[in-house]
Amino acid sequence: CGHITMTRIYHVGFRCERCNRHGPFGWLYRCTEHRELILDDMNRRGFEVAFDKIGADFAEQMSLGKWGPDKRHDKYSVLREMTQEQMQSYTPDQIATLLAQRENVPPFRSFSGYSGRNLFDTMPDEDPTETPWVPVMQYECQYKACHHCYRRAAEKSWLSLDGIVNGDIPPTAAGAYSFHYMQQRPICDASVVSNLGYRAVPLV
Ligand SMILES: [Zn+2]
Ligand SMILES: [Zn+2]
Repeated sequence: CGHITMTRIYHVGFRCERCNRHGPFGWLYRCTEHRELILDDMNRRGFEVAFDKIGADFAEQMSLGKWGPDKRHDKYSVLREMTQEQMQSYTPDQIATLLAQRENVPPFRSFSGYSGRNLFDTMPDEDPTETPWVPVMQYECQYKACHHCYRRAAEKSWLSLDGIVNGDIPPTAAGAYSFHYMQQRPICDASVVSNLGYRAVPLV
């Protein structure tokens, strides 16, 4: 789909959009580019975005990242993103130009087809200019593919553990979006998992 983030989604009913088969291990990769924004928005509005207590606890810490669209919506965020040295390398005129450029960036809804109204039927209308980065559900990219057909999906689904430790917890990770269709997390016996790949190969 051309987006840059995906996650595994566990559901036996979904089919790969390339080969039309079910995921061989019970999961497919699914695009999360828009879903991250939608989940963050739902959470911000007080809607439930997790199916269990662990998810609910992490939901309080979800974030679109240090340089997420919500942060960059504020034109002065450009100043916060700079180190002291970077700031000193600009002249006041250049800083003013940078700020003016940020001011002129149109909300991306206006050129990607998002109307910004009625994100969910049950949600009250909100001024669309307040959160122009949130797509409406009907335009959400839900591209799904199996790992045979779309090998690059593995790279797109990595999470940075360093980032998470430092507070950049993507909404899909915080609420365990991968498992929300199952409404439970797969729990494996730790003693079995710790042995995977270590058992001797049977000779017969
Ligand atoms: Zn496939
Ligand atoms: Zn996509």
